[in-house]
This record gives sequence, structure tokens and C-alpha cells, in this order.
Amino acid sequence: MKSIQGVYKIGNGPSSSHTVGPFRAARLFGARYPDADAFRVTLFGSLAFTGEGHGTGKAIRSGLPGAEVLFNRSEQDLPHPNTMLFEAFQGGKRIGSNRIFSIGGGSIRIENETSDDETEVYPQSNFSEIMHFCREHALNLPQFIYRMEDPSLRASLKTVWDAMQDSIRRGLSAEGILPGGLGVTRKAKLLYEKRCYNESADVTMNRVIAAYAYAVSEENADENIVVTAPTCGSCGVLPSVLYYMQHERGFPEAEILDALAVAGLIGNVIRTNASISGAECGCQAEIGSACSMTAAALASLYGMNTDQIEYAAEIAMEHNLGLTCDPVKGLVQIPCIERNAVAAMRAISSVNLSRFLYSTRKISFDEVVATMYRTGKDMSEKYRETSHGGLAAMYLAYNENDPAGSGVN
Ligand code: SF4
Repeated sequence: MKSIQGVYKIGNGPSSSHTVGPFRAARLFGARYPDADAFRVTLFGSLAFTGEGHGTGKAIRSGLPGAEVLFNRSEQDLPHPNTMLFEAFQGGKRIGSNRIFSIGGGSIRIENETSDDETEVYPQSNFSEIMHFCREHALNLPQFIYRMEDPSLRASLKTVWDAMQDSIRRGLSAEGILPGGLGVTRKAKLLYEKRCYNESADVTMNRVIAAYAYAVSEENADENIVVTAPTCGSCGVLPSVLYYMQHERGFPEAEILDALAVAGLIGNVIRTNASISGAECGCQAEIGSACSMTAAALASLYGMNTDQIEYAAEIAMEHNLGLTCDPVKGLVQIPCIERNAVAAMRAISSVNLSRFLYSTRKISFDEVVATMYRTGKDMSEKYRETSHGGLAAMYLAYNENDPAGSGVN
């Protein structure tokens, strides 16, 4: 497996596979053809269907200024649901091209090229192998991760955590309507400040964590800087719970960074053995993965053993299986923002169950990851980030008199 550093990418929202990945691809392709005087980029599949709402054209043009961006919504036979064709021209003549795939979480793969910018650091390829190694060497998960990774990991996690915290603070103080034309108002500040009379401690905790999740997700929807965890669409789940634990429960930052490392390891197992892309496997791959990473992080922060951490991650993923991706009007707003807050609550419940029931479990984390991948592959394309089904279609039918639900912007 590659370094967990690849799970956390700092960049502009609203979608890691639709903005962060295409931006990185544009920069890389532009650097290959410094003498080109024109570029054309054609987007296919999910990038073509939801690219406008997700800001793909803008991301590509900021990585490759002046590029012409085309949306091809008719091509069906694609090697990956997020396919881009980059072409470079000089004096009207094509001098080079690459098909590049945005494979989720801001990562990219260039067709027919094996190397990428992420390093292989783990000989293990799944969680059971990790567990075996940890038992053999009497290591807990953070100790295992620091033993395998480059010493720079800790500094990199600190940078990631600072960026996550910044996104919470900015989101909590911002107000107004999010861009895209859906008229969605920011709610993080309201949720954070709206204490109810006689509110119980549990409700306060849920409300405050939800406010943090809204804050990050609204920053993402507003195309501001967030950290993929493991994607932009699901970027609010993990920071919301960890921020609460540091600032309301007093866990020291060093332990938060260890928890972040454990979450990264879980995200890494998922992206290695399945997918973290909504276009490939639906929202179970994005929110399901974020929920699973957060459950593992929290269980680790609570000092639970590796079995309990694995079970917490398993529960969190299992009960997101089948979750579809159907963003209204192709924007990362409905259902995405609210879904981040709900997933944060679910991660906490998963930890509470795993604390007591881990010795009774029947399903391993690796099994549930394999199930998520197979379920995603069985899922109709309508539910994989095309905005052709589910809430996206029904919203248009109910609100814009478009029974076919075809009006993706
Ligand atoms: S529905 Fe889920 S997978 Fe789809 S864009 Fe929203 S957060 Fe991402």
C-alpha cells in the first residue's frame, strides 16, 4: 500500500475527483508540453454530467490557463467513470495527448503509465495483514504506522490538522447563500449558536459536532480550501469529531495526530482494495469511508484495542453499504452537507457498539470493504455521481416540473 499521506490532500472544493484531481492532472499535463500554444480538455462520464456543478471546468482552467474545456455526455465506452482527454497544440497541430483518470480523493492515473507521485510504503495490502503484523510485533496501530512511514509523516499530519481546523473556524463564522443557484443557506453558525432551553449534554454534543461538520462541508461547497478525508464531498466527518475531542474534551493534539494517522490507514485500506470515488461506487465509497475512518480514529483516541478499532470501522462502513450518490443539480450540497453531519453521529455510535461487542463480531473489515466495492460495481450508473437518479431526479420532478429529472446543470 502507498503512504497514508496520499489520503489527505489540501485543495479547493467542492469535489476531490472533480476539482482536486482534474486540477492536478491539468498542471501535470501543462508541464509536459511547455511549448504548446493551446490546450483542449474533454471530460467524459461523471465529469461531463456533474462537472459544471462540481466546478471541473474552473479547476482545469486554473491548472491550465486558457484551456478549452468540452463536456462529452454521449460517450459510453469509458475505461473509468472519471475520464479526461488532454490535448496539446502548437500552431494548430496536435503535439501530444493523454487520457487521465481522476480515481478519487484527488488522485489521478495516466493511461498506460504505471508510475505516479505516491510512494509504496506498506508491504501489507489489507487490514488482516496489518493486524497480523501488529500482533507479531506487539504494536498498536499508531506505532505500526510510524514504523512504516517516512519520519516526515508527523509534520505532514500537523499541516493537515491545521488546515482541517482552519476550515472549521472559517465555516463557523461564514454566513449567506452557497453558490450554484440552488439557494442553499449556510447553517453551521446557526447550528453552533442555537442552544435550546434545557438541552441535554448529549444533544449539545451532537449539535456542536454537526455544526463543525456543516462548517467544513459548507466551506467545501463554497469552493474554499479543505482537506480530502478521504474526499472533498465527505471532508466534514473526520475533522468534526476530532475537533470536538480536542477542544471540548481536552485530548492533546499529539493524540489527535495519532488518531488522524489511524483514520488515514483505514482510508488507505479502502482505496487500495475498493474505491473512495462516488463516481465509481456511489456515496458509500465517500461518506461510508469517511464514517469508517472517523470511527477508527475515535476508537484509537479512546485507547481501544486493535480489534475494537477494526470493529468500529467495520460497523461504520457496513451501515453505509448501498448509499447512493445523487447530488441535486450536480452540486456538492444536497444531500452531501447534511450527510457529513449524520455520518459523524454514526461514527460515534459505531465506536460505542464496538467497545462492548467486538468479541461477538462475524464480519471483518476486509470483508465489508470487499462488499462495498462489489455493491458499488453492481450499482446503476444513475446512482454514481451522474445526478440522473435519486434525490437529484426527484428534486427536479417535484420542484422544477421535470419528471425525467434530466436537467443536470
Ligand atoms: S452524494 Fe456523497 S458521493 Fe455524491 S457528491 Fe455528495 S458526498 Fe460525494
